[in-house]
Amino acid sequence: MAITFDDLPRGGDSADGRNLAAVQEMTTRLLGHLRDIPVAGFVNPGSATAQILGEPGFQSILRLWVESGAILGNHTFSHPDYNSTLLDEYSADILKAEPALVQAIGQRPVYFRHPFLHAGKEPETRQALDRFLAERGYRVAPVTLDNSDYLFAFVYASALEDDAVLARRVRAAYIDYMDSIFAFFEQWSKEVVGREIAQILLLHANRLNADAMPELLAMMKRRGYRAVSLDEALTDPVYQSRDTYAGAGGISWIHRWAHTKGMEVRWEPEEPKWVRDEFRRRRALRD
Ligand SMILES: [Zn+2]
Repeated sequence: MAITFDDLPRGGDSADGRNLAAVQEMTTRLLGHLRDIPVAGFVNPGSATAQILGEPGFQSILRLWVESGAILGNHTFSHPDYNSTLLDEYSADILKAEPALVQAIGQRPVYFRHPFLHAGKEPETRQALDRFLAERGYRVAPVTLDNSDYLFAFVYASALEDDAVLARRVRAAYIDYMDSIFAFFEQWSKEVVGREIAQILLLHANRLNADAMPELLAMMKRRGYRAVSLDEALTDPVYQSRDTYAGAGGISWIHRWAHTKGMEVRWEPEEPKWVRDEFRRRRALRD
């Protein structure tokens, strides 16, 4: 299994803790738990957090990732949604992310990950974007272990300010939820692919994952996983399989393969209702 993080420098969190010191502290702690584990990070150089940090601050965070051995990939400049953005604008946003990445890693990034995992609503728009990415030398970084870590992360960061009991409860529920996500996709990959595959996990760089990473890693170990690089995971032949999915859903690649094979897609477990309710309530208060 490969572990990947989206929305660098920071994602799926509350609006707080976005100053340089807080992001530095979170990143250092997160990567500290991941020593000896290869990870990939997908960067939005134009995100709100990146703007708050400023160019030198933002680059200093990327440096922490690079120095820890992470592969950094392009996640677009400003996280547009391809479901509602024309290709010209979308591809310009991809290119706009490159200078900051080149500065951080000394070369153009190899991997691209679609924001929201939206890769094209119709076959035509999907193919047009695939063509652009291939011509620009990008390899798409799929996700198989898709999940809603950002919901838990938002409630967690917000609860840390006013409800320590809730924060603890959300963190415990997060591990149980992720365990159920892993169990589901292990089984589902057997049904769709005929075996367990080299999975690719999507997470976000935030305080919840920085705090709960030891428990998360223990859960993966208990389930028999070994962390490999994204490069190595992608040597699994399943990533060469046909994928004709075009649709509005930002879904696991296992679902896309199921769809391509004409199978009826079975969906992963949802987060507990109380977490979703708490997410909605707290986000409404903040808006
Ligand atoms: Zn994202």
